[in-house]
Amino acid sequence: MPEKMLKFVHLPQHMPDKRDLAARRSDFAEIYRRFDQEEAARQASRCSQCGVPFCSVHCPLHNNIPDWLKLTAEGRLEEAYEVASATNNFPEICGRICPQDRLCEGNCVIEKGYESVTIGAIERYITDTAFERGLIKPRRPRAELGVSVGIIGAGPAGLACAEELRARGYGVDVYDRHDRIGGLLIYGIPSFKLEKDIVLRRWKLLEEAGIRFHPRTEIGRDITFAALRARHAALLIATGVYQPREIGGPGAGLPGIVPALDYLIAANRTGLGDTVPEFDSGVLNAAGKRVVVIGGGDTAMDCVRTAVRQGARSVQCLYRRDRANMPGSMREVKNAEEEGVEFIWLAAPEAFLGDAAVRGVRGVRMRLGLPEASGRQSVEPVENSHFTLPADLVIKALGFDPEKLPEAFGEPALATTRHGTLKIGHRDFMTSLPGVFAAGDIVRGASLVVWAIRDGRDAAARMHAWLSQKAAIREAAE
Ligand code: FAD
Ligand code: SF4
Ligand code: SF4
Repeated sequence: MPEKMLKFVHLPQHMPDKRDLAARRSDFAEIYRRFDQEEAARQASRCSQCGVPFCSVHCPLHNNIPDWLKLTAEGRLEEAYEVASATNNFPEICGRICPQDRLCEGNCVIEKGYESVTIGAIERYITDTAFERGLIKPRRPRAELGVSVGIIGAGPAGLACAEELRARGYGVDVYDRHDRIGGLLIYGIPSFKLEKDIVLRRWKLLEEAGIRFHPRTEIGRDITFAALRARHAALLIATGVYQPREIGGPGAGLPGIVPALDYLIAANRTGLGDTVPEFDSGVLNAAGKRVVVIGGGDTAMDCVRTAVRQGARSVQCLYRRDRANMPGSMREVKNAEEEGVEFIWLAAPEAFLGDAAVRGVRGVRMRLGLPEASGRQSVEPVENSHFTLPADLVIKALGFDPEKLPEAFGEPALATTRHGTLKIGHRDFMTSLPGVFAAGDIVRGASLVVWAIRDGRDAAARMHAWLSQKAAIREAAE
């Protein structure tokens, strides 16, 4: 065991400092400061270098965490980056936005009694520093294969797949309906969790590797799916899930009740310097308003914290289960509470009040009942427990379903599950259409960035195997 490691017994956990609360509430910059070299090395040295590292087992990418922690503790940054990037295309992004408390850090063995190693913050430190030192280069192929693949969707799943296939020598074209690359990394997740320069820096690097991007190109509208299939030897569908779940009840259609993603996209676009009429007119702007957000996942957390920064008069979050049963990250709830958000647990909306626009939410208290088939406890309303919250802006953050892709792509043979996600073979990642693969949220349903990266990498390996086999069969026949 190197002398530098195993320091958890004497050295306490130290997360990166957060910025001053008043500054945090009034701008969209990331809230966590970065470790400096000394602190990164000290925190990395707390790792006990487990023989069976549960941190890696519970990281969807099975990152080789103990090795890059040891290299960081020894000040060997270039090697630490090589190890960190061998299994992860975007380590600086995961280091910032993975729910580490549920993944790697939540399973660190020293968590029992000593508080985990700060894995995410060190992963971020390694990659940000490697960028600053000019160590990160585009992954250009040694030789071109002369085979073209198309990728629909420039979110983390599509981008990870694109980078892997390009490095192997494929000609890679990525199509996205948005004007910028990154999917939810650019337009969903707010800057206070992931500054946009971090995403734009990756976009530039991928372009330098020779990947051709086609923004503002919606497949099924600007180009038919059939035309794209004819253009490329293989396709990946990585279009994510975007259909917002609706809310019912009297008044649910009143102006002032808006979908979460419309609200977040407007905020992100404004931050990127775009003119957004719905933001300027106030429709998608929380400034001066009493805001009620409905939902308890990551999207709801991003909405409440965006509303605080836009200068909302008050921000309340209504969630039908309790704190322990909410799907969002606990760290994000804590950050939101620090920033002044009020959570109303075990409460659900019943009706929306107002004439020309929403003026209030009538809610009812809930209690937890018996476990459902999914294992989660059911919820039921408590009799005579109604209450009213005043509201000028209500944001619906109840989750997302997939769009109906067989219809959108004019491909009825594209098989879907009963949830509307794409069906793929678990061994080959192929959809029901030969040569068409799929990855990310469109297969899993709404999930996490780290899973999208994992799927994109796995899909690239399967596409390469399928294309290589096809080429071998063709050669044998000639
Ligand atoms: P996306 O990122 O959704 O990318 C899909 C891309 O496909 C988009 O760019 C879209 O424009 C494009 N597209 C769709 N249809 C077409 C078409 N027909 N033609 C061309 N292009 C098309 N995960 C975390 O790990 N941590 C977080 O903190 C976190 N916060 C989140 C906050 C919000 C508000 C949301 C909504 C999600 C969050 N997630 C978070 C989840 C995470 O962002 C997703 O799981 C991940 O981005 C999925 O990646 P993807 O590549 O499958 O899809
Ligand atoms: Fe942890 Fe995510 Fe990094 Fe894996 S990718 S080590 S889960 S922060
Ligand atoms: Fe180090 Fe914790 Fe991983 Fe063990 S589980 S290798 S102590 S980070």
